[in-house]
Amino acid sequence: MTDAPLPPPTAAIVALRAQQVRDRIARAGGDPAGVRLVAVTKGFGPEVARTAIAAGLVDLGENYAQELVAKVEDLARPEDPVRDVRWHFLGRLQTNKVRHLAPFVALWQSVDRPGLVREIAKRAPEASILLQINLSAEPQKGGCAPDEVPALVGLARDSGLDVQGFMGVAPAGDPTLARPGFEQLVALADAFELPERSIGMSGDLEVAVACGATMVRIGRDLFGDRPPRPG
Ligand SMILES: *Cc1c(COP(=O)(O)O)cnc(C)c1O
Repeated sequence: MTDAPLPPPTAAIVALRAQQVRDRIARAGGDPAGVRLVAVTKGFGPEVARTAIAAGLVDLGENYAQELVAKVEDLARPEDPVRDVRWHFLGRLQTNKVRHLAPFVALWQSVDRPGLVREIAKRAPEASILLQINLSAEPQKGGCAPDEVPALVGLARDSGLDVQGFMGVAPAGDPTLARPGFEQLVALADAFELPERSIGMSGDLEVAVACGATMVRIGRDLFGDRPPRPG
């Protein structure tokens, strides 16, 4: 028998946890006002997205196209609309999903191949993107290889996209193992003079901030464990 999942937290609890995340950013040597907190609502229903907004969070991150669109539709309910959400797309992205997402995504964080660059440029001209760099050398994880970065930055710029920086996911496990990859990503962002470094999740936030994160993507430490994915 499995335990019933805990009820989703209230807005007051999420606001408190968001403050704790900002305190952690400050203790790790970051400027909480200069590190954007992306609240990762993937895996939860639209009510958790509403809770996040009620807690004052404005940047929401999603990994699955259908889930993002379902939340957008729910948040647009005429009797109870929620405005001013900035949606970040974080997950592996199939080219054929871009068209469905294009009206809603404020920042495409998981752009990692030429076909995806071209499709986003076609469906969402001049969109803001981050290129995802694979920091773990595990091929099943998303992200381009570091040596593919120059060509991909060039293609994205030539396609009219606004390349704001890079996103990376550290290998799972001991957070200290995250450091070399984060440092490599930050060095590449410096080399290309790109402002955004989206590194750091619940488990490796401090390492990411110490390495120079400008954006952290936090799910579990705001909302608790995600419900298991069906299927
Ligand atoms: C799920 C996910 C996150 C959030 O992870 P937590 O461990 O819940 O904080 C951040 N970034 C990406 C790309 C993710 O897939």
